[in-house]
Amino acid sequence: MMGAIALIYGGVQRLGWSRPARHVLLGLAFGFGASVQMMQSLTLAPGIIVDSRALFIGFAGAFLGPLGAMVALVSSAILRMSFVSTASPVIAIVSMCVAALMGSLWPPVRSWLGLGDLGGLVLLAAMISLPLVVLAWLPVDPEHSRLMIGMILVLLNLAGALVFGTLLQRERSAAQRERALVAETQTDALTGVLNRRSFERRFSDADGLAGSRGTGLMIVDIDHFKRVNDVHGHEAGDIVLRAAATRLRNAVRPGDSVIRLGGEEFAVLLPDVDAQEAERAAHRLQRMLTMNCRIDEARRVDITVSIGVTHLPPGSAALPVASRTADGALYRAKSDGRARVVFCPCT
Ligand code: GH3
Ligand code: MG
Ligand code: MG
Repeated sequence: MMGAIALIYGGVQRLGWSRPARHVLLGLAFGFGASVQMMQSLTLAPGIIVDSRALFIGFAGAFLGPLGAMVALVSSAILRMSFVSTASPVIAIVSMCVAALMGSLWPPVRSWLGLGDLGGLVLLAAMISLPLVVLAWLPVDPEHSRLMIGMILVLLNLAGALVFGTLLQRERSAAQRERALVAETQTDALTGVLNRRSFERRFSDADGLAGSRGTGLMIVDIDHFKRVNDVHGHEAGDIVLRAAATRLRNAVRPGDSVIRLGGEEFAVLLPDVDAQEAERAAHRLQRMLTMNCRIDEARRVDITVSIGVTHLPPGSAALPVASRTADGALYRAKSDGRARVVFCPCT
């Protein structure tokens, strides 16, 4: 069960879904794992059962956070109440809640104690074993077996935590490495904005957006950039490129995309805008990129940009047409004297 859930964990973390969606789905998987543990329980006395469900619920808290822990807790509690008869339902549910809470508290406690992988997992096992104190209140006979059962369960939790935790940590770092690699292939190394490779994908995402009013596309080109290189050197040119990219990124909405097409040319994609909005945004960006850029202590350089902007009606799925139109508008902005915006509707 631990191996299966670790594999599911790795697979779901690699999906391009939002964090809450991934955590709800994984919470259900951990809840299912906890439920299966309840079916393999140890009966201490009639109606009094113990099992390692705390491991799955606690690990949901530790590896998914409060949302995943809540989903695992609720789904397994429902199963517990529906299928397993128990003499102490309140104690059963409270111990599950404590496991979820302990798991959710584990990441901050671990980093506070500065523990590594192994030490962290021992701490997690200890924290999720805490609900076992309820054994003290259970009517177990004979009395001395209570301690014995407690110790066996703590050892089981420890062994389980080490195995399960190692599997999950491996999956987590593999998924993180993959995500970092994917991000690297889509990012421009100099400026940190998206590179040309992601242009088409971002465009079709914007174009296919349900209920969209259309997509704005700008091509932003720094004016007389070659002079910056010629006068101040290539490194100064790089500083200007980074400053321009940062300003662009800070000036757009969270869902917009800034892409370095190459050289000193950037594309800005605005999903779900009408034509007026796209044109207004282009004027705003043009003003924001008119700047006096600091090269070093002694040198500053005045920068302006020209922008060609177009607007596509929703669902037209024609990036080449949109690019050509925006390019044509940029060409006109340059030949009309630079430092300006030219809007050209897409036909
Ligand atoms: P215009 O106003 O017509 O756009 O003129 P411009 O000088 O900006 O355009 P041009 O295409 O003549 O020159 C672009 C320059 O950008 C030439 C090239 O050396 C420089 N360049 C391209 N990539 C980089 C880069 O990564 N770093 C630096 N520093 N310069 C670059
Ligand atoms: Mg230029
Ligand atoms: Mg250019």
